[in-house]
Amino acid sequence: MERYWNEEIETMSREDMKKLQNERLVKQVRHVYDNVKYYRDLMDKKGVKPEDIKSTDDLCKLPFISKADLREAYPYGLLAKPLSECVRIHSTSGTTGKRVVAFYTQHDVDLWNDCCARAITAAGGTNEDVCQVCYGYGLFTGGAGLDGGSHKVGCLTLPMSSGNTERQITFMRDLNTTILCCTPSYAAYIGETLHDMGLTPDDIKLKAGIFGAEPWTEEMRRSIEKSLGIKAYDIYGLTETSGPGVAFECSEQTGMHINEDNFIPEIIDPDTGEVLPEGQVGELVFTSITKEAFPLLRYRTRDLCVLSRKKCSCGRTLIKMAKPMGRSDDMMIIRGVNVFPSQIETVLIEQGYSPNYLIEVDRVNNSDTLDISVEMNTDQLSDKVKDMQKQERDLATAMRMMIGITPKVHLVTPKSIARSEGKAVRVIDRRKLHD
Ligand code: ADP
Ligand code: ZN
Repeated sequence: MERYWNEEIETMSREDMKKLQNERLVKQVRHVYDNVKYYRDLMDKKGVKPEDIKSTDDLCKLPFISKADLREAYPYGLLAKPLSECVRIHSTSGTTGKRVVAFYTQHDVDLWNDCCARAITAAGGTNEDVCQVCYGYGLFTGGAGLDGGSHKVGCLTLPMSSGNTERQITFMRDLNTTILCCTPSYAAYIGETLHDMGLTPDDIKLKAGIFGAEPWTEEMRRSIEKSLGIKAYDIYGLTETSGPGVAFECSEQTGMHINEDNFIPEIIDPDTGEVLPEGQVGELVFTSITKEAFPLLRYRTRDLCVLSRKKCSCGRTLIKMAKPMGRSDDMMIIRGVNVFPSQIETVLIEQGYSPNYLIEVDRVNNSDTLDISVEMNTDQLSDKVKDMQKQERDLATAMRMMIGITPKVHLVTPKSIARSEGKAVRVIDRRKLHD
């Protein structure tokens, strides 16, 4: 039977949710307008007054805010509460440039923990569980977010942070961990290490994993589920909206429910900024309607995804977002063709290779090159050069079917590609370095 952390909110009727959102939005716009000069200026420039925003239907009148604004206003320019009322600062991982900081009041931390508690409960977590948090602790939001959620649910929390993988597994065995929280790339590495230690899923008590903070494919999910003997749930969030827990997966595993009582999602055309109808792929935009210290309105995440209100078998009525395909800036344009790293990952795992790979893009003689180094499993190793060349060619052909261009595939020996304990770096685009 499906369990909820906050049944009233998670299964609320559409009308009641909209009413709640309207009330909170009106209040939030007033709060931001009165307390954040940076955003007030943006609204004034657009000719919008707080009283113009009466319901979520008026959202489109508000100006967007982007990472560039956050950088410009760094560090205090978007703060909406006095620092004396703030209790925490977190920072983005800096995956795409200069880090930005976000502030939290105690109320904000509590709401965030609540969102993570919903995610843990949806993954089957209760106060009987032992929850091992191997997201990084510190400025990164992963560790603190899941740690807070785990405490709220009442799980016995193991605040491991990332790294020292054999020790992770030793504790997992000694202390009977049932829920693992980390990035999917680290989960894959933990699975691999478990097998290297001569152990199988039968030697551990894990039942569920809550993995996020980076894009991962369905193929990667199945591979992790098999290697750890668990059910793997996705979780999404970003520092700008608090951290993980903006959206979480339920037993249906077909996308993540967005905590709409706190975050109103929109999908926009990344080029024109126009709001797109449900079901279309575009850039995800969030408006925080409950945060006090760092309440961003219409924040452009740059994550590409689709929203759906299809009825979910878990009983939750919260809108769902599909797995983000990656960020708009993860998309590589190679010889005029749009390529996502996730497409490459899909092919590799489908063809029986490990999720350990490195994509290198460069420009040689005015033409783009795409090189993909792929690690073999030990049973794929061959003494014959001819066999290896054939495997490389077959893989390049499978890639072409998926992405439309033929990469140069290099099969490399097992364990030669660096493993990730946090967010994996899988693309090196040297064209950017030449520019
Ligand atoms: P940075 O933007 O520097 O990486 P964050 O740590 O705040 O800083 O990361 C948030 C970003 O991580 C999101 O915008 C998104 O691109 C990615 N992300 C988080 N969770 C997921 C997920 N479940 N699937 C795909 N991408 C995710
Ligand atoms: Zn559901």
